[in-house]
Amino acid sequence: MLIGVPKEIKNHEYRVGLTPSGAREMIAHGHKVLVETQAGLAIGFTDEQYIAAGASIAPSAKAVFDQAEMIIKVKEPQPVECRMLRPGQILFTYLHLAPDPEQTRLLIESGAIAVAYETVTDERGGLPLLAPMSEVAGRMAIQAGAHALEKAQGGRGVLLGGVPGVAPAKVVVIGGGVVGLNAARMAMGMGADVTILDKSLNRLKEIDMVFEGRIKTLVSNTSNIEEQCEAADLVVGAVLVPGALAPKLVTRSMLKKMQAGAVLVDVAIDQGGCFETSHATTHQEPIYVVDGVVHYCVANMPGGVARTSTLALSNATLPFALELANKGWAGALLDNVHLRNGLNICRGKVTYEAVAKDLGYQY
Ligand code: NAD
Repeated sequence: MLIGVPKEIKNHEYRVGLTPSGAREMIAHGHKVLVETQAGLAIGFTDEQYIAAGASIAPSAKAVFDQAEMIIKVKEPQPVECRMLRPGQILFTYLHLAPDPEQTRLLIESGAIAVAYETVTDERGGLPLLAPMSEVAGRMAIQAGAHALEKAQGGRGVLLGGVPGVAPAKVVVIGGGVVGLNAARMAMGMGADVTILDKSLNRLKEIDMVFEGRIKTLVSNTSNIEEQCEAADLVVGAVLVPGALAPKLVTRSMLKKMQAGAVLVDVAIDQGGCFETSHATTHQEPIYVVDGVVHYCVANMPGGVARTSTLALSNATLPFALELANKGWAGALLDNVHLRNGLNICRGKVTYEAVAKDLGYQY
């Protein structure tokens, strides 16, 4: 199969759908890879590296879309990209269609077969192509929070790990899923005093077992959240209620009781945020202050570490992309229910129930 990799065109998106080593794997399995020139340059993947891996370089996105049988991307296709898709062509990327009627309509009109990273499943009921970005965001939350705690950023002037003779910072993580666990691990590694709150007792049991008590666990309820936030230097919001807006767990009145210069990192901002005072920010202007508390609410945190994110995403997507290429879309989706769960649009029809329901299409 001929695999096409266009350069991402969304604002400040530096990730790329396939790395040179991913291209090499594809080619080793008998496929051809066509990469738009400079598609990975911003994160250090040169055209020469793709050529060395056996890929060809195309001068434009149009050349890639015109020739490829499968397009591998990162972000949802922009309108100009949707219009370049053709009937029967496979598109494998993040789509997030439910809040995006225009993209959905354009993909229906294209006649393409659109498989969305975010709805591909695994045998444990997880979302394996979303998890790598949650791992990145969770780890980054501590890096960003540590920086925001510095005086120059408006923070309390507290070092996460403390030093001998001085207590470490108190880090509170609300939500012990993929983001929360990765944040807690980083904070623990830096020597902070870490507490995780989750609604799920089973999750808390697992965390307690894994960390042998080195991370404190607390059930998530209003009293515990309030008490923990009052004493915290850094609070990470990492909750997810699948398919729903994040619950506002830290209210404005709780914020008023927090220490001046404490930091909130709301990773759940892409689902509306779990602090009442959160609003989405960008890597250009990541923080703002409300009632003396510093807020970091960047909606696309992984974009800030685009090289790591590309490598992590590619590790997870490549086996699925290979299966699509090896068997063709019909064979691959028939054989693999998890890949089939990724199918959102197929030859002019919406094939994902939640998207059809939200946007009023027949399913
Ligand atoms: P996950 O499903 O792995 O974990 C969510 C956890 O939240 C679960 O353990 C669940 O029990 C817990 N939870 C639900 N309600 C709760 C409550 N009231 N109190 C405490 N815990 C509660 O999800 P995840 O992959 O860790 O993602 C977390 C959030 O981070 C999501 O909103 C996701 O979209 C977001 N995210 C944001 C970025 C970014 O760049 N900002 C990047 C990746 C993920």
